[in-house]
Amino acid sequence: MSILPPSPTPSLETPLLRFLKETHARFGPLDEGEVASYIPELGKADPDHFGIAVATTDGHVYETGDTGVPFTIQSISKAIVYALALDTLGAEHVEATIGVEPSGEAFNSIRLRADNKPFNAMVNAGAIACCGLISEATGEAAFEMIRAALGAFAGRTLDVDDAVFQSERATGDRNRAIAYLLRTYGGVRGDVDLILDTYFRQCSILVTARDLAVMGATFANHGVNPVTGQVVASNYAVARTLAVMSSSGMYDFAGEWIYRVGLPAKSGVGGGIVAALPSQLGLGIFSPRLDAHGNSVRGIRTCAAMSESFDLHMLSRRGDVRTAVVADYDFRTVPPRPGRQTKAQEILAARSGAIRVLELSGQLSFATMDYVTRRLTDPAGVPEFLILNLHRVSTITDAGLSLFIGLIRNQLPAGTTAVIAGVEGSSPVAPQLKALRDQGVRVRIFPTYDAAVEWAEDQIVYRHGGFSQVGVEADLAGQSLLAGLSLQEISDLSRLGTRVTFDQGARIISASEPPAKVFFLLRGMVSARAANDVRLATLIPGMAFGELALIEEARAADVFAETEVVCLELGVEAFRTFEEANTRAASRIIRNLAVLLAARIRMATARIEMLTG
Ligand code: GLN
Repeated sequence: MSILPPSPTPSLETPLLRFLKETHARFGPLDEGEVASYIPELGKADPDHFGIAVATTDGHVYETGDTGVPFTIQSISKAIVYALALDTLGAEHVEATIGVEPSGEAFNSIRLRADNKPFNAMVNAGAIACCGLISEATGEAAFEMIRAALGAFAGRTLDVDDAVFQSERATGDRNRAIAYLLRTYGGVRGDVDLILDTYFRQCSILVTARDLAVMGATFANHGVNPVTGQVVASNYAVARTLAVMSSSGMYDFAGEWIYRVGLPAKSGVGGGIVAALPSQLGLGIFSPRLDAHGNSVRGIRTCAAMSESFDLHMLSRRGDVRTAVVADYDFRTVPPRPGRQTKAQEILAARSGAIRVLELSGQLSFATMDYVTRRLTDPAGVPEFLILNLHRVSTITDAGLSLFIGLIRNQLPAGTTAVIAGVEGSSPVAPQLKALRDQGVRVRIFPTYDAAVEWAEDQIVYRHGGFSQVGVEADLAGQSLLAGLSLQEISDLSRLGTRVTFDQGARIISASEPPAKVFFLLRGMVSARAANDVRLATLIPGMAFGELALIEEARAADVFAETEVVCLELGVEAFRTFEEANTRAASRIIRNLAVLLAARIRMATARIEMLTG
């Protein structure tokens, strides 16, 4: 038999990749437009190059065509340099020098506003002023700082095309004229040649369509590069840069562009276009043939096709705030967790409306969180414990968080405790919630839903006197696992077991060891914990643990002594011996176990039904 060499696993094509390939094929034959030649070196570009790349906000990059071919970034650099200036020089300073009005003119227009400020940072005058501000603040370091910022947006180190730089420097009199004009009004200060060198160099940085897509996705991902995970710009700088891109990124085509395509974008005379749709995607296109506005012909067509096919217009958004609440219930409809002693069960059954649970999901934003708070305006509907499960929440915006904190601090009735589940200590909401607690607000935080429900139930049981005291030894006859056994049978069973004591903190059961014993808790408190140390359940005297050893081969969780603990430990072998002499009692125990498990399943099923509607 011959051994076949391993074949590379082909990957299946997603609909978006297919669409990009089709779009590439569709616009490939388009040969309208001219390669820019006012910078002589740019005239050497291959007009047929065509690459389309899309980067998602989770860091995946789709590519088709010439997405690895380097070309000079040109005016696209203006967007990133503007964001850099806002972040490093302070928005007030930058905004005092450069306007944010669309000029409605060509990129190289020499006209300034009536107050002699450049219209915006996306046209040459504004970009040169921006470059001037950075040079003024950082001197010689300006260019390297700009190169590093562009590289951080792209997720790699970027080089400069020196030939293009020299070529533009040799022929860039119009930009020189703009810079001198700016200087007469204080729009740039210092050495014009030095500032222009920085500007020309910035425009000569080499990128690929792939780089542009990642840059776009970094804008779309609120300034966090989704490929490297690096925070490269602030929310403020990203939002404001996208705003100027929306109104002025495509020069004298900007109005038409935002009306039809509806994506914040920036083009460059090298043939690149970057577009970004916040929280959705970044788009990078390279095709050097330009239209009369200086925008890539195939680039424009590709963006328009994408926008139209996938409804990407930034003002054509939809969302249903109601999806934020997956389930809203109390324990009249969902059975309580089993395993508690009869008295505790009775107390909980009589107060099944005392806990209300809202299971939240997705993004908690201004609109979705407002909706959540509106479900809680009827005081009669807000009981002693309000559990808000955030386990499925993906993000909380600043506005969402402010409404969330407002709900807990001011909206809930005085007697209600907010129990926040699904929040790890590392979560950004944790410190805010802890601060509320320190201020005396009734709020508790738990890493899991189960721990939150259990805590709320414990409070109810405790308040109504149903807590069997942890320090008092429980009678074996009160064990739900031994219900229905005669006193003689219980005493026979207990003689086969051993009374054991554990110190506080001791590990009684390790999930990695084979199950060999069942423990009846007589005194103290134990907790079952998952591998990540999350507390799954707390047990008090009268409950058994490790009971699955009677029927199963594997342990589910670690069990720790929370206090000093006294147990009756019964080996599985001892149970088998008991079974031989007491068939009826043994099968009763197994039946009790089945009843407990069935109750757990009922509870889990009811909750799954709540969640899946
Ligand atoms: N470096 C070019 C210039 O200033 C950039 C122009 C552009 O890409 N629109 O002329």
